[in-house]
Amino acid sequence: MSDPILEGVQCELLNEMNTVWEKTDSLMDTPMHYCPGCGHSVVHRLIMEVVDELDIRGKTVGVAPVGCSVFAYNYLNVDMQQAAHGRATAVATGIKRVLPDRIVFTYQGDGDLAAIGTGETIHTINRGENIVIIFINNGIYGMTGGQMAPTTLVGGKTSTSVFGRDTSTHGYPLRIAEMIAPLPGAYYVTRQAVISAKHVRKTKKALTIAFKNQIEGKGGVSFVEVISNCPSGWKMTPLQSNKWLEDEIFSFYELGDIKVPAKIKKPEITSTEQ
Ligand code: SF4
Repeated sequence: MSDPILEGVQCELLNEMNTVWEKTDSLMDTPMHYCPGCGHSVVHRLIMEVVDELDIRGKTVGVAPVGCSVFAYNYLNVDMQQAAHGRATAVATGIKRVLPDRIVFTYQGDGDLAAIGTGETIHTINRGENIVIIFINNGIYGMTGGQMAPTTLVGGKTSTSVFGRDTSTHGYPLRIAEMIAPLPGAYYVTRQAVISAKHVRKTKKALTIAFKNQIEGKGGVSFVEVISNCPSGWKMTPLQSNKWLEDEIFSFYELGDIKVPAKIKKPEITSTEQ
């Protein structure tokens, strides 16, 4: 005989699971091409959840350049514009200036933002364009087969640094977020990850802040870096890649807010107003 209390609990659990896993409207109902364990798909979902929650789907424009996320337009059901490799922030600048009522974001990997597009990135941020930059940092060139990126850690083995990244010939890894944070045009800079529910929640919060900053015209770039997995490039299983991030990567790329808007000082109350 079935237990009505147990059935009730199961029903509640199922309802909760359906609520939790239901696809948000702005994410297309299409199987993603990303490798198992890749962080791109999680970040895609989070961006679209934020877009839906802020009710900005009809006026959001995303810019995706070259990299594993080159097909982002297949998954994100907002207006999307392709950019040449490294030029996403320049294209986003043009879109935002011509259509200032649109909410514009770029979605770039480290090969795009931190290598070929470093110049565009720095100058866009230095100009303080009112856009959101989403930077997916997995420390390797995933799409082209796992070559060393500017973000590869010292000692990191890739197909172009087979004995490990050696600073005497390869230089040092770039901490882009720390590098751009001092620029006056950088309004909000944060670094997050998506390897657990806790990290996912924080990343979503950061994305919400970033998009709200743009909606409210705070003036300046909101920059959200997400430390992501590339199990294929790293030649690891998804679980091994999560452990690698926690054991090795997060001590160099520390998670958390790097630049938050200064709190607005409350005006002092004069004696006549008291
Ligand atoms: S190669 Fe790496 S970054 Fe690209 S889809 Fe696969 S896991 Fe993701």
